[in-house]
Amino acid sequence: MLPRHARAIARLLERLPGVGERTAARYVLHLLGEPPALSEALGQALVELHAHVKPCVRCGNLAEVEDESLPPTCEVCADPRRDPALLCVVARVQDLSAIERSGAMRGRYFVLGKLVSPLEGIGPDDLPLEQLRERIREDGVREIIVATPPSVDGEATALLLARELGSLTEPSVKVSRIASGVPHGSDLEYADQVTLGRAIAGRR
Ligand SMILES: [Zn+2]
Repeated sequence: MLPRHARAIARLLERLPGVGERTAARYVLHLLGEPPALSEALGQALVELHAHVKPCVRCGNLAEVEDESLPPTCEVCADPRRDPALLCVVARVQDLSAIERSGAMRGRYFVLGKLVSPLEGIGPDDLPLEQLRERIREDGVREIIVATPPSVDGEATALLLARELGSLTEPSVKVSRIASGVPHGSDLEYADQVTLGRAIAGRR
C-alpha cells in the first residue's frame, strides 16, 4: 500500500484513459525512483497545460497559444498550402489527428465535438451547425468530407450533415462520406493510416 500522498496521485492517474490501478501505482513508484526534477517538471507543465493549449477558434483542433491577444489558431488553419475549399468534418480531435497521420487530407477540418445520439439525448440542435455554416460561407468551401466514425451515432450524424449542408446554395457544396473500409463501430483513431487514406480517397 502506498503512503497517502502517493495514493492520492495514483487515484488521479487512474482517471486517465487506459490507466488502471496497477499502472497508476507503477507510475507513482517510478516517479519516486527518479530525481525530484522529473516530478517537478511534470507538475509545472500540467499546471500550464490549459493556458498554453486551447481549441482553435476556426476548427476546434488544438492550438498552441503563442500570443494571448490573438485568438488561438491551429497549425492546419494557419497553413497557407491547405485548400480552403475542402473541409473535413470529424467528431473529435483524436479523429483529426488520425486523418492527419494518414497524410490523405489536403484541406482543412471542422471538429463537431459530439455526435447526434438519441440514446444520450444529443439532438441536431446540440451540434455546432451554425458555426459550420459560417465557416463554409467565410472560406468558400465547395466540398465537405464527413469523416464521422462508422457507428450508429456517426452514421446518423453523417445523414444529418448531408441533409443540412447538401441543400446549401450560397455557396453550393458537395457533401461526401468517407468510404467504408474502416471497420464498423471502430474508432478512426485506431484505423491504420493506409485504410484511412483509402477511405478518404474513395469517398462517395
Ligand atoms: Zn484550426
